[in-house]
Order: sequence, then structure tokens, then C-alpha cells
Amino acid sequence: MIPRITTAKHRPAWQTELARAIRSRRELFGILGIIPPAGYPDALSTDFPLRVPRGFVSRMKPGDINDPLLRQVLPVADEHDHVEGYSVDPLGELSAMPENGLLHKYQGRALLTVTGACAVNCRYCFRRHFPYSEANPAMDDWQPTINYLRDNPDISEIILSGGDPLSLTDERLSHLVDRLAGVPSLATLRIHTRLPVVLPERIDEIFLSWISHLRLNVVIVIHSNHPNEIDEQVSTALRQLNEAGMTLLNQSVLLKGVNDQAETLVHLAKKLFSSGVLPYYLHMLDRVRGAAHFAVSEAKAEQLMIDCHARLPGYLVPRLVREEAGERGKILIWPS
Ligand SMILES: *Cc1c(COP(=O)(O)O)cnc(C)c1O
Ligand code: SF4
Repeated sequence: MIPRITTAKHRPAWQTELARAIRSRRELFGILGIIPPAGYPDALSTDFPLRVPRGFVSRMKPGDINDPLLRQVLPVADEHDHVEGYSVDPLGELSAMPENGLLHKYQGRALLTVTGACAVNCRYCFRRHFPYSEANPAMDDWQPTINYLRDNPDISEIILSGGDPLSLTDERLSHLVDRLAGVPSLATLRIHTRLPVVLPERIDEIFLSWISHLRLNVVIVIHSNHPNEIDEQVSTALRQLNEAGMTLLNQSVLLKGVNDQAETLVHLAKKLFSSGVLPYYLHMLDRVRGAAHFAVSEAKAEQLMIDCHARLPGYLVPRLVREEAGERGKILIWPS
């Protein structure tokens, strides 16, 4: 079912929240009651500006410049350090993205980049130097993708990625999904999204009504890095997805000063589980320029996994992976 066109008057609440996202450091510090310390110059270059929804800010601890949620979104002077091995396109994927946005690297699954837009700008994002790839006029022409999927019936799962696929309107997204559901060989739709965490308003009745009536299995892979990200509102949104029959998984990025302690990862796993989500992947940081201050060594990461494994049931321990440029793709580090 395709929802009717939303007029400005009937704009869903989540779009209003999205438009109200904070983009000014002064306002952010004002809300949090933080006096900007030295080392946070006001005029940083802004090819990847501050952008964070207000609900996410409300989960930060007032007065704490080291808050783990704040750290993920606050531009800092460290981003200007040039560190050996960190590049603008670490996966060599953005510059070489196929024209129709479809990546078919693994057997049985294909990944479709549907938009470059996001609700939040995460400082560690591997797309941080290409945030405006949504300005692709071909993005509404799904015919080449549909043709490819019909020609390759061994693909049974289509993964929508981005950017954030849920930053598309229901009208556009359900139109695409209806086309995909018309490909008989597809059995599963997977959506990689951070919106249920940073903008839980997105999981509204309109979305739930069309997504829960597909013939496809639906898997939602959310992106949460710290237990403080999951408050009552996020938890409710996640449980609604769960009750509507979707499988919920989480991927995290291992970030220094955010979640590089076993205690934090254990707490996150338990909190996810109580909202109906299973931990799936823990990613090593992509070596993107400007993010080196988030790096955690692979030796430390493996030790964290061993500590988590000792303290959690097996089904709550994610797999530790690293992305590599070119054909190699995801590399499993732990369990090895
Ligand atoms: C990560 C990824 C997938 C999905 O891999 P899973 O191990 O099934 O999660 C598919 N295609 C591409 C290009 C990917 O990067
Ligand atoms: S939500 Fe994902 S794609 Fe968007 S900025 Fe954050 S890490 Fe990047």
C-alpha cells in the first residue's frame, strides 16, 4: 500500500523533528550547559557540519563534554590532524559506486544505496567526505536495479543502505519496496538504518502500516553504539517493529571514548535485548580522514570480545569485523 502524498499541512511529526535538528555548536552547548573549553574553536571547516536531532541530545548528560553520545556528533579540533593511513575514501567504494547504486559482492545478497541523506552526522562516518551524494537525479529510477535483480535470481535478499534509507519519505520508500516485492526471487528485505535510534519518531503508524504488510521477510539492522542511546521512546519504537513481525539486529562501531569498555558493550547488549534487538556486528573504525581519534587497536578489540563472551550469553555477543577496500569486503576478526 502506498500512503497518500503528504502535504506540508500533514507533514509527519518525524519530518518536523528532522528539520529541527541542531546544527549549531553554540545551541548544542547552550542546551547542555557546557562552557566551550579551549580546543573547541568555533570556526571549523564544515564540509561535514554538526547535525543532531534534539531527541538524541536529550539523552546526553548535561555539563559533560565527554558524554559518549556527544562525542559521536561534536566536531573537534582533532579532526584536522592528518594521520598516516586515514583517507577521504577508505573503502574505495564511494568514488567507485556503480551508477545504479547496487553492490553485488556477496552470494545471495545485494546492497542498494538509496540515498546519501542522514538524520545525524556521525563524526566517524566513512561517508563524511561525501555527504551529499543524495544529489543523484537517477535515484528515483529503480528500473536498472529491478532488471538486475530479475536477471540474477540467486539474489534472495536486498539490503537498503545509504545514507539512511528511512530518511526517505514513506511515499518514496514504499514505492521502491513495492517494486522490489514484485521481483519473485527476492525473499528478504533488509534495511540498515540509524533512524529508530536517533529519530524514533520515524517509526510511526504510517510506516508500520505498510512495512508490516509485505510478502517479504523484513530485517531491520539498527545502529547503536552506547546504552544511553536507548531510552524509553527508542525502546518503544523498537518493540513496535518487533511486534509487527520484523527481525531486529544491531550493528555498532567500536569507538575510543564511547564504547571501548567491556562494561559498556555488555550493558548495550542487554539493553538491546530487552527491546527485542540482537547484537549483530561490531565494526572496527573505517580509516577515514578526521576520525583517527576514535581508533581502537585490533588487539584491544579482541580482548573486549573475549571479555564480553565471558559475561554474556552467546546470542548477545556480536561478531567483530573490519571492512577492507576492494574485493575483500568484510573480514571476520572475532570469533576467528
Ligand atoms: C555488509 C555487506 C553485505 C551484507 O553482509 P552480511 O554479512 O550478510 O551482513 C552485503 N553486501 C555488501 C556490499 C556489504 O558491504
Ligand atoms: S547514521 Fe550511518 S551513514 Fe549516517 S552519518 Fe551516521 S554512520 Fe554515517
